[in-house]
Amino acid sequence: MRIDFLTLFPEMCEAVMSESIIGRARAKGALEVHCHQIRDYTLNKQKQVDDYPYGGGMGMVLFPQPIADCFRAVCEQAGTRPHLVYMSPQGAVLTQQRAKELAQLPNLCILCGHYEGVDERVLDALVDEQISIGDYVLTGGELPGLVLADCVARLTPGVLSDEECFTDESHYAGLLEYPQYTRPAEWEGRAVPEILLSGHHENIRKWRREQAIRRTFLHRPDMLESAQLSEKERAMVETWRQEPSENDTI
Ligand code: SAM
Repeated sequence: MRIDFLTLFPEMCEAVMSESIIGRARAKGALEVHCHQIRDYTLNKQKQVDDYPYGGGMGMVLFPQPIADCFRAVCEQAGTRPHLVYMSPQGAVLTQQRAKELAQLPNLCILCGHYEGVDERVLDALVDEQISIGDYVLTGGELPGLVLADCVARLTPGVLSDEECFTDESHYAGLLEYPQYTRPAEWEGRAVPEILLSGHHENIRKWRREQAIRRTFLHRPDMLESAQLSEKERAMVETWRQEPSENDTI
């Protein structure tokens, strides 16, 4: 997959996308990332990219020309027109399901806004989709864009190794993940659940499944509505509902 960022802060995006798992995936060629400076495409001598909003009001708005020319340059470089996502608090909130779908694309281009955002005509003419990372407002689209890129990139083939596999993780199959433990077997009087030390793979699998359902029941009961549970598992949830236990805390 190729991911392009259109941003006023390419160094910020480049720095994050060069670290850890994503950085290694780039180094081994499983992922291509390019961070473009929108300002390089402005036609005015002052290298200005923003202006006052028509109609008055606070803040500045990114004007269309540099963004459009930057995106056209990306299309030319990539040899195709990538799916263009504008990071915006007005977009649909990002979900694992949407990330899975976007991970199927060969190209993804992420437009990061700044100040008051971008001229509405950019959205009308160029943007395919607006994505939010939650119901709050940040100063710029770089952090949201990086969240999207990281979430999508780790679902593309070759980015994660087998040990880092994502299919058991929270949200992938509609449940939260079971609790994880590592060495030592006892820490400050707290022991790892006996079953995890038993070496009995089938019992461990069953325990983890039940723990995943239990966690989802306790922390995100809304997710259970659409989770794929067997009849036996639904009955188990019903019992928990009817008989709340003292352990029903985080
Ligand atoms: N005036 C805009 C509004 O009220 O909808 C907010 C602009 S915000 C200060 C500046 C930029 O940060 C936006 O253009 C967008 O790219 C990014 N941004 C801020 N919060 C975001 C969020 N929750 N999700 C995605 N992008 C966000």
